[in-house]
Amino acid sequence: MSAQIVPRILLNSGQRMPVLGLGTYQSKSDNVKEAVSYALDVGYRHIDTAYSYGNEQDIGEVVQEKIQKGLVKREDLFIVTKLWSTFHKPEHVIPSLKKSLANLQVDYVDLYLVHNPCGFKYTDESNLFPTDADNNVWYDQTDHMDTWKELEKAVDQGLAKSIGLSNFNKRQIERIVQSARIKPANLQVECHAYFMQKPLFDFCKQHGITLTAYGPLGAPTRLFSVNPNDPVLLEDPVVVEIAKLCGKTPAQVLLRYLIQMGRIVIPKSKTTNRIKANFEIFDFEISPENVAKLGGLDRHLRYYPFDWCKDSVEFPFRDSY
Ligand code: NDP
Repeated sequence: MSAQIVPRILLNSGQRMPVLGLGTYQSKSDNVKEAVSYALDVGYRHIDTAYSYGNEQDIGEVVQEKIQKGLVKREDLFIVTKLWSTFHKPEHVIPSLKKSLANLQVDYVDLYLVHNPCGFKYTDESNLFPTDADNNVWYDQTDHMDTWKELEKAVDQGLAKSIGLSNFNKRQIERIVQSARIKPANLQVECHAYFMQKPLFDFCKQHGITLTAYGPLGAPTRLFSVNPNDPVLLEDPVVVEIAKLCGKTPAQVLLRYLIQMGRIVIPKSKTTNRIKANFEIFDFEISPENVAKLGGLDRHLRYYPFDWCKDSVEFPFRDSY
């Protein structure tokens, strides 16, 4: 299957971002290389990672190997990584991005996101979850605008083609949009059939910001904040029924639905047949009637409540959106 099959969405930076990418959270060295290599062979060109996932180096090795073998071109790839919360202070932003670039073995990333509006105290580059003397999360309150200005400099210096935000709420995004010299091109937030983020999506659209859906399959194997009472999205009877009608799997229906609703999706898998199946979503269409049925599932269900940073003054999910 050709990589050209994945449509691209135009960002306000002028870049074109594939609407399907491979997520890599919780993909470690034993399986991330195989997953990324296979995904590139299948035709994925968009890879989502983050400094905090600890797998940039593995991804960099695979990407470099594929480029050197002439199997992919750097300009066809869309690589996304994220600034971790311990690096919000202006003096840490560009050095942290340069570390990510070195890990990824590239001169620029296509999209650089601020991972989380909650800043943490910088102690050293490997301590991602610093705690104070009482063992509480050690927060840092760098003004988001000061961090953002450094991301703008990263664009000026050619280190990032586009810049954006992740896990920011409307109020926090609005503040950046009002004073930014370079507007955010993309917002990455949890989004799936149980949590379509319609108000935030509409707000972003008004401001020319695209929305990437993380946890698009309902993050069935997430590690944190697992509530055993949460319904399993992939097993929802409405999704299962529509999948049968379409001759597709529940995962394919959930991804296709998000794309039809204007979201960019980054399903994660380390399993080859799932990586391939998650890519095979451009050869069918969910009917308006079934789109309406899927719309009926929306229930503001957050699988990732981020309660580990709920005491931060910038905790984003206190606001309704
Ligand atoms: P997803 O909704 O993508 O679910 C991933 C899980 O679903 C994996 O355990 C995978 O299993 C399984 N899976 C994948 N494909 C299928 C399929 N076809 N059928 C059944 N099960 C399947 O959740 P994630 O939390 O991983 O979110 C996706 C990506 O979003 C992340 O990997 C990361 O890149 C990003 N993200 C960003 C966050 C942020 O704060 N900005 C937070 C969370 C995620 P297996 O691997 O075993 O095949």
